[in-house]
Amino acid sequence: MRTYNQEDALVLFSGGQDSTTCLYWAKQQFRQVHTLCFTYGQRHSQEVENARRIAAMTATPFRVLDASIISRLAPNSLTDRTMTMDEKQPKGSYPNTFVPGRNLLFLTFAATLAYAEGIRHLVTGVSQADYSGYPDCRDTFIRSANATLNLAMDQQFVIHTPLMWRNKKEVWQLADELGVFDFIRHETLTCYNGIKADGCGHCPACLLRRRGLKAYLAERGH
Ligand code: ZN
Repeated sequence: MRTYNQEDALVLFSGGQDSTTCLYWAKQQFRQVHTLCFTYGQRHSQEVENARRIAAMTATPFRVLDASIISRLAPNSLTDRTMTMDEKQPKGSYPNTFVPGRNLLFLTFAATLAYAEGIRHLVTGVSQADYSGYPDCRDTFIRSANATLNLAMDQQFVIHTPLMWRNKKEVWQLADELGVFDFIRHETLTCYNGIKADGCGHCPACLLRRRGLKAYLAERGH
Protein backbone atom coordinates (compact mmCIF):
# COMPACT_ATOMS: atom_id res chain seq x y z
CA MET A 1 0.00 0.00 0.00
CA ARG A 2 1.22 3.46 -0.90
CA THR A 3 2.23 5.64 2.03
CA TYR A 4 2.54 9.38 2.23
CA ASN A 5 5.05 9.74 5.01
CA GLN A 6 6.31 13.03 3.62
CA GLU A 7 2.88 14.65 3.69
CA ASP A 8 0.33 15.87 6.22
CA ALA A 9 -3.30 14.83 6.59
CA LEU A 10 -6.39 16.34 8.16
CA VAL A 11 -8.76 13.92 9.88
CA LEU A 12 -12.43 14.81 10.30
CA PHE A 13 -12.62 13.89 13.94
CA SER A 14 -15.41 13.39 16.47
CA GLY A 15 -13.72 11.24 19.10
CA GLY A 16 -15.93 8.26 18.21
CA GLN A 17 -14.86 4.73 17.36
CA ASP A 18 -14.66 5.32 13.63
CA SER A 19 -12.83 8.63 13.47
CA THR A 20 -10.43 7.64 16.26
CA THR A 21 -9.56 4.47 14.36
CA CYS A 22 -9.01 6.72 11.31
CA LEU A 23 -6.77 8.97 13.39
CA TYR A 24 -4.51 6.05 14.29
CA TRP A 25 -4.62 4.75 10.72
CA ALA A 26 -3.54 8.19 9.48
CA LYS A 27 -0.72 8.36 12.02
CA GLN A 28 0.79 5.34 10.27
CA GLN A 29 0.40 6.83 6.80
CA PHE A 30 1.34 10.47 7.12
CA ARG A 31 4.09 12.68 8.48
CA GLN A 32 1.82 14.81 10.64
CA VAL A 33 -1.86 14.35 11.35
CA HIS A 34 -4.19 17.22 12.21
CA THR A 35 -7.77 16.94 13.44
CA LEU A 36 -10.88 19.00 12.81
CA CYS A 37 -13.97 18.55 14.97
CA PHE A 38 -17.37 20.07 14.22
CA THR A 39 -20.03 21.31 16.56
CA TYR A 40 -23.49 21.43 15.06
CA GLY A 41 -25.73 21.50 18.08
CA GLN A 42 -25.33 17.82 18.95
CA ARG A 43 -27.34 16.82 21.98
CA HIS A 44 -24.20 16.17 23.94
CA SER A 45 -21.24 18.49 24.20
CA GLN A 46 -19.37 15.54 25.76
CA GLU A 47 -18.64 14.49 22.19
CA VAL A 48 -16.49 17.56 21.53
CA GLU A 49 -14.82 17.42 24.93
CA ASN A 50 -14.01 13.75 24.42
CA ALA A 51 -12.58 14.49 20.97
CA ARG A 52 -10.42 17.24 22.48
CA ARG A 53 -9.24 14.85 25.20
CA ILE A 54 -8.28 12.11 22.71
CA ALA A 55 -6.44 14.61 20.53
CA ALA A 56 -4.46 15.71 23.60
CA MET A 57 -3.79 12.08 24.61
CA THR A 58 -2.43 11.35 21.13
CA ALA A 59 -0.54 14.66 20.82
CA THR A 60 -2.51 15.60 17.71
CA PRO A 61 -3.25 19.23 16.76
CA PHE A 62 -6.98 19.80 17.32
CA ARG A 63 -9.35 22.40 16.05
CA VAL A 64 -13.09 22.88 16.58
CA LEU A 65 -15.34 24.54 14.05
CA ASP A 66 -18.88 25.72 14.66
CA ALA A 67 -21.12 24.27 11.92
CA SER A 68 -24.35 24.72 13.88
CA ILE A 69 -25.99 26.65 11.07
CA ILE A 70 -26.82 23.26 9.54
CA SER A 71 -29.10 22.37 12.45
CA ARG A 72 -31.05 25.57 11.99
CA LEU A 73 -31.99 24.59 8.44
CA ALA A 74 -33.36 21.06 8.76
CA PRO A 75 -34.81 19.29 11.81
CA ASN A 76 -32.98 16.15 12.91
CA SER A 77 -32.98 14.16 16.11
CA LEU A 78 -29.24 14.56 16.71
CA THR A 79 -29.71 18.23 17.46
CA ASP A 80 -33.41 18.64 18.27
CA ARG A 81 -34.11 17.56 21.83
CA THR A 82 -37.86 17.50 21.22
CA MET A 83 -37.53 14.71 18.65
CA THR A 84 -37.39 11.03 19.56
CA MET A 85 -34.48 9.34 17.86
CA ASP A 86 -35.41 6.66 15.33
CA GLU A 87 -33.86 3.43 16.49
CA LYS A 88 -34.47 1.84 13.10
CA GLN A 89 -34.63 3.14 9.57
CA PRO A 90 -38.27 3.81 8.70
CA LYS A 91 -39.41 2.17 5.46
CA GLY A 92 -38.79 4.34 2.43
CA SER A 93 -37.09 7.21 4.26
CA TYR A 94 -33.97 8.05 6.25
CA PRO A 95 -33.86 7.79 10.02
CA ASN A 96 -34.31 11.16 11.74
CA THR A 97 -30.67 10.98 12.86
CA PHE A 98 -29.81 11.90 9.27
CA VAL A 99 -28.54 15.47 8.99
CA PRO A 100 -28.98 16.42 5.33
CA GLY A 101 -25.93 18.03 3.78
CA ARG A 102 -23.73 17.35 6.79
CA ASN A 103 -20.89 15.40 5.23
CA LEU A 104 -20.76 17.62 2.15
CA LEU A 105 -20.58 20.71 4.34
CA PHE A 106 -17.97 19.16 6.65
CA LEU A 107 -15.80 18.07 3.72
CA THR A 108 -16.05 21.56 2.23
CA PHE A 109 -14.98 23.17 5.51
CA ALA A 110 -12.20 20.61 5.95
CA ALA A 111 -10.90 21.19 2.42
CA THR A 112 -11.02 24.95 2.95
CA LEU A 113 -8.87 24.60 6.06
CA ALA A 114 -6.58 22.11 4.30
CA TYR A 115 -6.16 24.58 1.43
CA ALA A 116 -5.19 27.34 3.83
CA GLU A 117 -2.70 25.10 5.65
CA GLY A 118 -1.22 23.46 2.54
CA ILE A 119 -2.57 20.00 3.42
CA ARG A 120 -3.51 17.71 0.52
CA HIS A 121 -4.97 14.69 2.31
CA LEU A 122 -8.33 14.47 4.04
CA VAL A 123 -9.39 11.43 6.06
CA THR A 124 -12.98 10.61 6.98
CA GLY A 125 -14.44 7.58 8.75
CA VAL A 126 -17.56 7.12 6.64
CA SER A 127 -18.51 3.56 5.77
CA GLN A 128 -20.80 2.16 3.16
CA ALA A 129 -20.66 -1.35 4.61
CA ASP A 130 -22.51 -0.64 7.84
CA TYR A 131 -23.92 2.79 7.19
CA SER A 132 -27.17 3.75 8.86
CA GLY A 133 -28.77 4.37 5.51
CA TYR A 134 -27.09 7.73 5.00
CA PRO A 135 -26.50 8.66 1.36
CA ASP A 136 -23.50 10.87 2.20
CA CYS A 137 -21.57 7.89 3.60
CA ARG A 138 -21.45 6.15 0.23
CA ASP A 139 -18.31 5.76 -1.81
CA THR A 140 -19.89 7.32 -4.88
CA PHE A 141 -20.67 10.48 -2.90
CA ILE A 142 -17.10 10.73 -1.55
CA ARG A 143 -15.62 10.36 -5.04
CA SER A 144 -17.97 12.98 -6.36
CA ALA A 145 -17.20 15.37 -3.48
CA ASN A 146 -13.47 14.81 -4.02
CA ALA A 147 -13.79 15.73 -7.70
CA THR A 148 -15.94 18.76 -6.87
CA LEU A 149 -13.57 20.07 -4.20
CA ASN A 150 -10.60 19.67 -6.54
CA LEU A 151 -12.42 21.62 -9.22
CA ALA A 152 -13.71 24.23 -6.78
CA MET A 153 -10.28 25.01 -5.34
CA ASP A 154 -8.03 23.91 -8.22
CA GLN A 155 -6.31 21.45 -5.91
CA GLN A 156 -5.38 17.77 -5.92
CA PHE A 157 -6.96 16.77 -2.64
CA VAL A 158 -7.16 13.06 -1.85
CA ILE A 159 -10.02 12.00 0.39
CA HIS A 160 -9.12 8.79 2.22
CA THR A 161 -11.87 6.54 3.59
CA PRO A 162 -10.10 3.65 5.34
CA LEU A 163 -13.39 2.31 6.72
CA MET A 164 -15.48 2.52 3.55
CA TRP A 165 -15.77 -1.24 2.97
CA ARG A 166 -15.45 -2.37 6.57
CA ASN A 167 -18.42 -3.30 8.70
CA LYS A 168 -18.27 -2.56 12.43
CA LYS A 169 -16.64 -5.91 13.18
CA GLU A 170 -13.91 -5.11 10.69
CA VAL A 171 -13.43 -1.65 12.17
CA TRP A 172 -12.68 -3.34 15.51
CA GLN A 173 -10.30 -5.63 13.68
CA LEU A 174 -8.49 -2.65 12.16
CA ALA A 175 -8.15 -1.05 15.61
CA ASP A 176 -6.63 -4.31 16.82
CA GLU A 177 -4.21 -4.43 13.87
CA LEU A 178 -3.20 -0.86 14.67
CA GLY A 179 -2.54 -1.93 18.27
CA VAL A 180 -5.20 0.34 19.77
CA PHE A 181 -8.11 -2.02 20.40
CA ASP A 182 -8.30 -1.26 24.14
CA PHE A 183 -7.84 2.45 23.62
CA ILE A 184 -10.68 2.56 21.09
CA ARG A 185 -12.89 0.45 23.31
CA HIS A 186 -12.43 2.49 26.47
CA GLU A 187 -11.72 6.05 25.37
CA THR A 188 -14.01 6.70 22.41
CA LEU A 189 -17.57 7.99 22.53
CA THR A 190 -19.98 6.78 19.87
CA CYS A 191 -23.23 6.78 21.89
CA TYR A 192 -25.92 9.28 20.89
CA ASN A 193 -26.67 9.67 24.59
CA GLY A 194 -23.18 10.93 25.33
CA ILE A 195 -21.83 7.96 27.31
CA LYS A 196 -18.21 6.97 26.70
CA ALA A 197 -16.88 3.44 25.96
CA ASP A 198 -19.70 0.85 25.96
CA GLY A 199 -22.32 3.64 25.99
CA CYS A 200 -26.03 3.52 26.87
CA GLY A 201 -26.44 0.21 25.06
CA HIS A 202 -29.72 0.97 23.30
CA CYS A 203 -29.29 3.92 20.92
CA PRO A 204 -28.67 3.04 17.22
CA ALA A 205 -24.96 3.88 17.50
CA CYS A 206 -24.51 1.70 20.59
CA LEU A 207 -26.40 -1.21 19.02
CA LEU A 208 -24.21 -1.11 15.92
CA ARG A 209 -21.01 -0.74 17.93
CA ARG A 210 -21.91 -3.53 20.35
CA ARG A 211 -22.95 -5.95 17.61
CA GLY A 212 -19.64 -5.40 15.83
CA LEU A 213 -17.64 -5.78 19.03
CA LYS A 214 -19.41 -9.02 19.94
CA ALA A 215 -18.81 -10.45 16.48
CA TYR A 216 -15.15 -9.44 16.54
CA LEU A 217 -14.53 -10.81 20.04
CA ALA A 218 -16.20 -14.09 19.05
CA GLU A 219 -13.92 -14.32 16.04
CA ARG A 220 -10.80 -13.36 17.99
CA GLY A 221 -11.56 -15.94 20.64
CA HIS A 222 -11.43 -13.74 23.77
ZN1 ZN B 1 -25.95 4.82 23.22
